[in-house]
Formats: sequence, C-alpha cells, structure tokens
Amino acid sequence: MTTITSKLPSVGTTIFTTMSALATELGAINLSQGFPDYECSPELIELVNQAMKDGHNQYAPMGGVMKLREQIARKTERLYGAKYDPVSEITVTAGGTQAIFTAICTVVNPNDEVIIFEPAFDCYAPAIKLMGGVVKSMELRPPDYRIDWGMVKKLVSNRTKLIIINSPHNPTATILHQEDIDQLTALVRGRDIYILSDEVYEHLIYDGATHHSMARYPELAQRSFVVASFGKLFHATGWKVGYCLAPAYLTAEFRKIHQYIVFSVNSAVQTGMANYLEDENVYLSLPSFFQQKRDHFVKGLSQTKFELLPSYGSYFQLAKYGHLSNESDVDFSLRMTREAGVACIPTSVFYTQGTDHRIIRFCFAKKQETLDNAVNRLIDFKL
Ligand code: GLN
Repeated sequence: MTTITSKLPSVGTTIFTTMSALATELGAINLSQGFPDYECSPELIELVNQAMKDGHNQYAPMGGVMKLREQIARKTERLYGAKYDPVSEITVTAGGTQAIFTAICTVVNPNDEVIIFEPAFDCYAPAIKLMGGVVKSMELRPPDYRIDWGMVKKLVSNRTKLIIINSPHNPTATILHQEDIDQLTALVRGRDIYILSDEVYEHLIYDGATHHSMARYPELAQRSFVVASFGKLFHATGWKVGYCLAPAYLTAEFRKIHQYIVFSVNSAVQTGMANYLEDENVYLSLPSFFQQKRDHFVKGLSQTKFELLPSYGSYFQLAKYGHLSNESDVDFSLRMTREAGVACIPTSVFYTQGTDHRIIRFCFAKKQETLDNAVNRLIDFKL
C-alpha cells in the first residue's frame, strides 16, 4: 500500500458531525450543530419545484443565476446602502463554507499571515494552512469576547495578508460594534490587508442592534470579501447555497478559483430562491422570528443552574457550568448528551490551544416544543 502524507494531520471529523451523530445514536435532543429542526417555507419549496418543472436543470452561469444576483444586490443596497454590481461583484457559492474557502484561496500565498479571532468557526484555519499560510490567532475571553485592537496591532506584520472577522459571531453570539469598525478601519488603512467578513448570521441580530456589515463602509468594502448564507436565511442549511460580495478586482480572482471548485451552483434552487426573495419580508422578519426563540429559550434555561452569557446575534446561546462541575467542556458535553439527553457543543474546540472556559454552546433554531423538552431535561439533569 502506498502511504499518504496528510495535508491536515491534526484534523479529524468536525465537532458538528461528531455531536450530531452522537445525538442521533443516543436519541438525544440535538442542540449541537446549528440547523433548524423545522421546515423551510412551503412556498419556497414550491418555487424550487416549479423551477425544476420549468426546465432550470442545466448548469447555472458560473457566477450564479442572474436573477438571484440581482435580488442579492437589491437586498444589500436596501439593508446596507451599498451597491454591488450583479455582473462583476456578486458570486453565488455552494454555501458559506465554500465562499470562505475560495476567498482564502484567492488571497493567501505561502507564508502569508492571516489573523483570526478565537474561538473561531472551524473552517478558517484548515483553509489557511492548505494554502501554505500562517494562522495568527488571537484569543477572545468570556464573558464579552471583545477584540483588543491594541493586541491586534501587535500581531500585524508586513506579511499580514488577511484578517477574518465574523459578526454575529459563532460560537459566542457576540456582535461587532461601531468602535470595532473604527479600529479595524484605522488598522488596515494604508496597508495591503484584505478582510474576509463571515456574515452568515447577518439577519440573526437582536434587540434592535445594527449589523455592521463590511458592505456599509466603502473604505473597508473595497478590500473585503463579504460572505452570506441562504441556509440561515431560508432555514434550508441542506441546500448549501450562499454568496460572496467583493469589489470587481477581487471577484475576478475569486471566480477564477470558484469555477474550478464547483463551477456553478444548483440552478433550480437558485431560481426558486430568486423568486422567493421578491418579497423583502422573508428577510426583514427574521430578527424577530429568532429573537422570539432566543427569549423563550433563555427564559427556560433560567430555571436551570447554568449561568447564561448574553446572545446578541446568531442562533446560539452560551452557558457556563464551571461553578457546578470541574469536568472539561468536552467531557461535560458528552455526559450531558448521555445522561440528560441534550447535545451541545463544547466551546474549547474553537480554540487552537483548546482553551476551556467551561462554557458550552446551544443552538436555539428549534421548534418551541424541542426547546421546551430540552429545558425540562436540563432542569432534571444532575449536575
Ligand atoms: N455552522 C454550523 C454550526 O456552527 C454547522 C456547520 C457545519 O456543520 N459545518 O453549528
């Protein structure tokens, strides 16, 4: 047998796959991997069916179905006051993860440094390493997980090529503030640094807060890849459709790679989504839809012994258990899945160093009855 040299020797199966599989095996309520347990809109399903019946079954254009790109442009202008050209600045991707991977491929060359903030979503570092880049991670600390921009400045060198930000943030449910935008702007001004802004939870933001999309700020937008996800927007994570906004000079390079990774994305789904997006309410109604779930879940969890951290955005809720148990967050999550029948995600897996603050992540994109059942089990759980 020939031997293979792993390109990602320290990578195993993702925590999301692992915890979801365990939840299924044990019949536990799955609040681990982030996905809804309710159906997406029947109207959207009908529109996708109709698109198939209408013959949208061959390759879509490489950059995406034009009508969908036009709808994305309309939504971006309406929400963030930014004009992106559907022809040269918007690319439909096979989900947010592919957009992130492709953006990293587009700008990172061997030995380039990329700054990421941990806890970080798990797909950033492997893509950087595959490109021969160097991950410069900065740890954020609970309870507020704010970025210390003075420290970021110290991390910047003449090899820094890219900064990856993520707001609303997975897993911490924090959001960037105007002050962060000002600091970031000052930091990159006059430097050849690109920004990859993971905004897949852009519509899941609560209490009337503003989503500080990079698209809003021309000085930042001209060096940014903004990544968004229809999986989150339409409660259809399995359809794997997202998009990337970037100025034409970046999109041109992004597409050179995109065309060889996926060529193009499912045409019937794109067509159905484009028609569905004609009604702006589908995205304008999302913050209140999810805020209701967050509030309901938080109210339920307040009957347990967990200490809750605030959830400002995303569909995640962090809970602290360190005052109740000394177990590592991985052991605690496994035991909770087995004994309480509720699966969650330990947050240490989002740190390169495995930093363990005894904090776990729940996903509340679930039916009310699922959340209620989970809460009841957690109330009974012998911590
Ligand atoms: N974004 C989802 C989460 O954080 C899962 C994504 C995945 O499984 N790759 O749970």
